[in-house]
Amino acid sequence: MAPGIGVDTQASRRDQIVANISSVRRRVARACAESGRDLSEITLVAVTKSRPASDVRLLASLGLTDVGENRDQEAAPKAHACADLDLTWHFVGQLQTNKCRSVVSYADVVHSVDRPRLVDVLGREARRAGRRVVCFVQVRLDSAGDHGGVRSDDVRPLADAVAATDGLALAGVMAMAPQDADPDEAFSRLAEVATKVRADHREATMVSAGMSADMEQAIAHGATHLRIGTALLGARAAGVRYGPTSGPAVP
Ligand SMILES: *Cc1c(COP(=O)(O)O)cnc(C)c1O
Repeated sequence: MAPGIGVDTQASRRDQIVANISSVRRRVARACAESGRDLSEITLVAVTKSRPASDVRLLASLGLTDVGENRDQEAAPKAHACADLDLTWHFVGQLQTNKCRSVVSYADVVHSVDRPRLVDVLGREARRAGRRVVCFVQVRLDSAGDHGGVRSDDVRPLADAVAATDGLALAGVMAMAPQDADPDEAFSRLAEVATKVRADHREATMVSAGMSADMEQAIAHGATHLRIGTALLGARAAGVRYGPTSGPAVP
């Protein structure tokens, strides 16, 4: 490869990401204006799964320092490669208990807490590492439960467990809108669950909802954390979807 080619490619990648960020920011600003919400309530988490660490560096240089990943095998080396940056790492995928030790070593926030055993192990590993992990309880809004999450009825006991566990802090609730469903309807159900959790836990003010296709609806229903991949970084290769069971990531 001739010298300079890598640099040019990196420059055009930067231009692309700059354009994507401004388009996402415009969408967020418009949705906030329409629902009378303040922009400062919204945290944009850039989901970088299947993307190289160089993209994480570009995002950070452009001010996006909240980074989301959904597979520990991919996230751990990427977080390590970016350890010199001051980033907040969000783990957003289904989480196996045998990955908790690794995840806790870099993740500040876990969006996918969906069973008591995971609360136990995350708490134990957080205390062992001397870390405090911010947790969202993931709510299942579809009947299939393809992406994990607890049924609405089981959210409150799980939220209680997170709140009662040393090393963990309860942020609120998270969900993905079911495929082929109306995201407005789904996120309004999530907002009801969030309100119930807040009745018991005043600190649980956060709602993680909204991806590239449905960020407007999520904002309208109170989302505080948007998890945005495609709209910031472009379409992923086929086969790279949302969970650890969805096929291999692109190297
Ligand atoms: C991949 C992923 C996202 C981002 O999805 P896009 O549609 O690319 O914005 C958000 N949340 C989770 C849990 C994901 O796995």
